Amino acid sequence: MTTCPKVERYGGLRTNSALSAFEVPVDGKAHRPLEHSSRVFVAGRNGLVGSAVWRELVREGFTDVIGPGSAELDLRDRRAVFDWFAAARPDVVVLAAARVGGIKANATRPAEFLSDNLRIQVNVLDAALEQRVERLLFLGSSCIYPKFAEQPIREEALLTGPLEPTNDAYAIAKIAGILQVQAVRRQYGLPWISAMPTNLYGPADNFHPEHSHVLPSLIRRFHEAKESGARRVVNWGSGSPRREFLHVDDLARACLHLLEHYDGGGPVNVGTGTDLTIRELAELVREVVGYRGSVEWDSSQLDGTPRKLLDVSRLTELGWAPRIELREGLTQTYAWYVENLGSDALRN
Ligand code: GDP
Repeated sequence: MTTCPKVERYGGLRTNSALSAFEVPVDGKAHRPLEHSSRVFVAGRNGLVGSAVWRELVREGFTDVIGPGSAELDLRDRRAVFDWFAAARPDVVVLAAARVGGIKANATRPAEFLSDNLRIQVNVLDAALEQRVERLLFLGSSCIYPKFAEQPIREEALLTGPLEPTNDAYAIAKIAGILQVQAVRRQYGLPWISAMPTNLYGPADNFHPEHSHVLPSLIRRFHEAKESGARRVVNWGSGSPRREFLHVDDLARACLHLLEHYDGGGPVNVGTGTDLTIRELAELVREVVGYRGSVEWDSSQLDGTPRKLLDVSRLTELGWAPRIELREGLTQTYAWYVENLGSDALRN
């Protein structure tokens, strides 16, 4: 049996103490504000996160924001990604592209969640490295943390226990992304960073009845029940799991904030710091939508992890705070959903 060299813990990972990615000096480059004329590539520009990051960059005055949609560039195609990077030569990359879905999609299609996400990430990160892209933000997810992590979950909980089985394939892919970012920092000295958002919602979400996350699913279910005059709706599981919800526009602001104020190898949690039960969420959505029938729960459906609340002190210490309160964000998202019924924006 071999023995490991002396290690220290950081960001939940074990590494040789001399090589801690937290310590890699990068001349304070990541703390320099981004130039508004920088060419920023938003990978995943049409998704929930990518479209919000795009809006925020434009709002902040960035003049060269680029990002082909998936029909123009399939990020799973390595050759195509390398060719695209060589031609476009971005200065900054926000990697928001991913195959995402709710509890049922993750539990029933783990092979796709693992393979697609690994390929998207490895291709984009490798191509960005080949072009020596200096500033890069990789987006992960709060599901990277162990199922029974101490709450609220600190970044140090990474890799300290078994994952929630309903989304372990997606989580493993995202953990690989964090490690790749840390490895590039360590080996090449580039100040790349990772952010781990909690459950997100907002405009341009996926409202598919089976494959989406809980919040858009509930909006659609309550809306359709209201429209059809249905006397009851049935939600999944026991309603007792607790979740935290962040409006995607708040995440977009956090992404820019981190790119300008954070330079470390450890991932940074992005959330509100407060959670509620799925039952409480359903009541809130019912009120916002204006549905008056009864609400029932199908306990034969999966509950998933019992609680997933992020400790956001690392981010708040960097001077960031969320602005959009849940009821306000829900009201705005419901209005967006109603406005876009029947349009291409509601892809499902
Ligand atoms: P998770 O946070 O990875 O577990 O993903 P989801 O957002 O899909 O599910 C969160 C919780 O909401 C789970 O406990 C689900 O069982 C519950 N839930 C209740 N109704 C629904 C629904 O209609 N769709 C989804 N996706 N989840 C629901």
